[in-house]
Amino acid sequence: MKVVKTVSELRAALAAPASSTGFVPTMGALHEGHASLIRRSVCENGRTVASVYLNPTQFNSAEDLEKYPVSPAADAALLEGLGVDVLFAPDYGEMYPEGYRYRVIENGFSGLLCGASRPGHFEGVLTVVMKLLNLVRPDRAYFGEKDWQQYRLIEGMKEAFFMDVEIVPCPIVREPSGLAMSSRNRRLTPDELSLAPALYRELSSGRTVEEIRKNLEGAGFAVDYLEEREGRLFAAAFLGKVRLIDNVPR
Ligand code: AMP
Repeated sequence: MKVVKTVSELRAALAAPASSTGFVPTMGALHEGHASLIRRSVCENGRTVASVYLNPTQFNSAEDLEKYPVSPAADAALLEGLGVDVLFAPDYGEMYPEGYRYRVIENGFSGLLCGASRPGHFEGVLTVVMKLLNLVRPDRAYFGEKDWQQYRLIEGMKEAFFMDVEIVPCPIVREPSGLAMSSRNRRLTPDELSLAPALYRELSSGRTVEEIRKNLEGAGFAVDYLEEREGRLFAAAFLGKVRLIDNVPR
């Protein structure tokens, strides 16, 4: 696996021809959810590129960014073991040479669900994903349905800007308890970790939204939103300082 940190190194690494290129963008602190996207890309493409970039523009809280887990050595070992060909791990100056003066803005769906409580979040996500897709120029890019709203907005951006890439949604990978895997789970205390599976249990219970909200609040969650849309039930809820998200078909 080639590890590259700059745009020019990335361009040089991608100059070699490949039958097709798959791309998996991540923010690091990798787990089995990320691994499932990588495996799929390795299986479907001649070459797989992964990125690990903790993108500050999509954080609307300085504390959330500061506390976000990082594990660069373990991430690189995992990616290499899965058969990734190129790992792009840039710093802020490489990704934002213009200082975040240019942005991709969506004026509808990005204001709902996570966008309602995290102003600017999807602007940061769409901007960095546009930059990464322009750099890597993959045939396919893989996104997890855990971040369903993100996946839908990226699909919409691709359509809006006539981008020549296939956006591939991948199913949510869960712990045996049902808890959706997430880098942020590492920040849960043991007590919070034992409560956390209740989020998925409630979402998939078939109960009414009102009952689910009551049960989650009773169990110690601070519910940010709980909403049905697009034939799915979406939730974000805090356990202590950690914000968990999940969604299920409904
Ligand atoms: P992140 O590092 O959190 O930005 O995630 C990078 C990619 O992995 C995104 O497309 C996520 O949706 C996806 N992902 C994260 N957790 C999971 C999971 N539990 N199951 C499936 N995909 C996931």
